Amino acid sequence: MNNKIRCNDCEHVFSNDDIEKELKGDEPCPNCGSKHQTVTVTISEQITSYDQLRGKVNEDGRKKPIKEFISGSELYVDRGDIVNKQRVIDRVNDYYMELVTDQDGNIIKHDEGKLSEHRGHGSAKH
Ligand SMILES: [Zn+2]
Repeated sequence: MNNKIRCNDCEHVFSNDDIEKELKGDEPCPNCGSKHQTVTVTISEQITSYDQLRGKVNEDGRKKPIKEFISGSELYVDRGDIVNKQRVIDRVNDYYMELVTDQDGNIIKHDEGKLSEHRGHGSAKH
């Protein structure tokens, strides 16, 4: 795992010693004293072990695949952990579905409906 912390105010990049301190408590930036930092966590080694299936169905003469699907685990960056993701895009039947659940099966995101409305022009229901 590779952690990086950068100060939002002065762009100072924390040294490894400062990162350890920062992760234990709420240390201010050693350069300007600001407490606003961006923490980047990179988990490079584990990404290849995620179990994800992706597929596309192409049709001659069309630029975009007529069907696409994703099913499996992936890193959900906003939460910093692994989620299950299912996504179906069906351009023939004008159908779209995306379901994201966490490891306990709780629904994080569920989006389903007409593809044309999903990509739509101000007609979103929510
Ligand atoms: Zn700073």
